[in-house]
Amino acid sequence: MNTYKLPIHLIRQYLFCPRVVYFLEVLNIPKISPIWVKEGETHHKKQAELFKRRTLARFGLESAEFKSNVNLSHDEFDFYGICDGLIISDTHIYPVEIKLHGNSPTNAQKMQLIAYGILAEKKFGKIFDLGFILFEKNGKTVPIKINEESKLEVVQKVDEIIEMIKLGRLPYSSADEAKCTQCEFENYCNDRF
Ligand code: SF4
Repeated sequence: MNTYKLPIHLIRQYLFCPRVVYFLEVLNIPKISPIWVKEGETHHKKQAELFKRRTLARFGLESAEFKSNVNLSHDEFDFYGICDGLIISDTHIYPVEIKLHGNSPTNAQKMQLIAYGILAEKKFGKIFDLGFILFEKNGKTVPIKINEESKLEVVQKVDEIIEMIKLGRLPYSSADEAKCTQCEFENYCNDRF
């Protein structure tokens, strides 16, 4: 029986480079959190408050409930994680992800948001067709529309990652030099350059 569940943040790591997930989950090499991750965590609480006031009003969701740092998992899915925020209205659920830097969401950030939304819609039994990514440094909130196709894409991506982990073989990587030079596993990838 497969009992392994993928932490959602590894979807973003996998899209950066599949080998990062291999080193973390197959070889169990501990990850060193870069300074900017810690910096981001410190700001999250304050930003969640700001988000509540600004965005809930903008989207007519003033009466919705807002929860920070919500643990999400569901028996039907092989992934889990802690979502930065969830807006819960009578009928809908809206995941919120808070990023320190950036202007426009990357594909990896969207997939991560969708993964949280998939779990939240099951857990709360509400509709999930919209989420938000908040960029702290410039105070910008980007709404992300979600359809069933994008949810399926995320589920399939998780299957692909778990398959790679189960296989336990060093995967191919198309990462370029710019990625490798900022990667903490550079020393493990001498074959690349
Ligand atoms: S050094 Fe390059 S190939 Fe190796 S894990 Fe990092 S990004 Fe991937």
